[in-house]
Amino acid sequence: MLFAEVVETSRRISATRKRLEKTDLLAGLLRRLSPEEAEITVAFLSGAARQGRIGVGYATIREASQPSAEEPVLQILDIDHILSEIASVKGQGAEQRRRELLSAMLSRATKPEQQFLTGLLMGELRQGALEGIMLDGLAKASGVSPSLIRRAAMLAGGAPVIACALLEQGAAGLAQYDIRLFQPVQPMLAGSAESVADALGELGESALEYKFDGARVQVHKSGGQVAVFSRAMNDVTAAVPEVVEAVRALPAGDLILDGEVLSLDSEGRPQPFQISMRRFGRKLDVDSLLSELPMTPFWFDLLYLNGQSIIDEPQSRRFAELLKLTAPGNLVPHLTTGDRAQAEEFLEGALRLGHEGIMAKSPAAPYAAGARGQSWLKVKQARTLDLVILAAEWGNGRRVGWLSNLHLGARDTEKGGYAMLGKTFKGLTDEMLAWQTQEFLKIEIARDKYAVYLEPKIVAEIAFNEIQVSSRYVSGLALRFARVKRYRPDKTAAEADTFETVERMAGIKS
Ligand code: AMP
Repeated sequence: MLFAEVVETSRRISATRKRLEKTDLLAGLLRRLSPEEAEITVAFLSGAARQGRIGVGYATIREASQPSAEEPVLQILDIDHILSEIASVKGQGAEQRRRELLSAMLSRATKPEQQFLTGLLMGELRQGALEGIMLDGLAKASGVSPSLIRRAAMLAGGAPVIACALLEQGAAGLAQYDIRLFQPVQPMLAGSAESVADALGELGESALEYKFDGARVQVHKSGGQVAVFSRAMNDVTAAVPEVVEAVRALPAGDLILDGEVLSLDSEGRPQPFQISMRRFGRKLDVDSLLSELPMTPFWFDLLYLNGQSIIDEPQSRRFAELLKLTAPGNLVPHLTTGDRAQAEEFLEGALRLGHEGIMAKSPAAPYAAGARGQSWLKVKQARTLDLVILAAEWGNGRRVGWLSNLHLGARDTEKGGYAMLGKTFKGLTDEMLAWQTQEFLKIEIARDKYAVYLEPKIVAEIAFNEIQVSSRYVSGLALRFARVKRYRPDKTAAEADTFETVERMAGIKS
């Protein structure tokens, strides 16, 4: 088929707002593709070439630009072939060779084809609405249910991979895309709930678990062979030998586990995220950090057991199997309840031990690989600190003339003075900007080009998501996603939170 037909269908799909019409256009095109063309075209219309990144950036594309051809001549297979060739260019002179290949392709493309290809290579088609309707289009073209197609696409690593088998053989063609040992599947993701009450309201009786702040891992085991995959499905087996050992010792022959690994301090509290992540650095670091920062896995799901995928089983059944297998010290702390008071208590327990919050999971839900659904909900406590404003920077753009970005400090009772934890201009209304500009200028003690420094007098309540270990500030800690909740005129600087409190919250001090 001519590539121009793909481009034209894509144009017509963008031109209508009606979802049904879009699906029909897409299905019409998909039905006419040869099996060979299916994977390529589904990838194009989902916004990425099937070759992935092919090493051409904006500059190369600009330098390769060509006058357009009058008539469409390029076949879908021609484009795929050229992209594969570009992707395989390596070594000296690669940049020039890629440019030549790209130029030659663009010179044979019509204007709309050139625009499509440029968008594709720049990754600009990615957000295209087409991605969302692709499953529906495939369902219509093949007569197979969208949920079966979604499941196979997730397990196979994307809709393009399954397109050929689906369009050729229908549902029977999808059987081969089941979960397989040593082929990582996309991890199931979580939605969010504002509170425990909201989570229980949404899910009813829930399987509650501590939410650890470590690294997501999926571990595949067959007999003595073990492989560990990261959240991005990279093989990280070499980074965590102690996890490999622990899994090798488990009683089951074949299994796939899902969990979080992190490093605990001597009192069993979690180390801050960045400290745990040092273990995933260079090989050299792994060797030297193995004893200093041992990692503990906490399993929370089981996807495969003794030769069978169990991802379609309900969470309660998968967890029951997991319970039989793992040592209590490597299992996520859990509680199944529909009772709000019990759930609140469970959350408080998690926060007291220094964890991020809890997850609430639907006991009836299957494992939805790659999906961020409502079957898993994370409940994080929004945390706040009352901090002293140490300085404010002059605003830009719409905020010119106003003191905007605030420097935030916690009281340092040990060294005296204030420990800087970050800056924020988020959460400030126009009224607050006007008020603070006026008030700050009254307590100015110095200024430079960017900022006005203040007597440490004014306290604000700052919400944040996380405390990070950071070398940006002398304090060694920084707030992540800090935002102003409100000013606290009722508090003096002497009543603001101390750096010691911040260290305790970060799990650095007990
Ligand atoms: P977020 O990254 O904030 O969307 O939260 C989801 C992540 O929390 C998952 O990808 C896991 O890495 C992590 N996590 C920690 N504890 C759990 C748990 N008990 N169940 C599922 N995910 C968890």
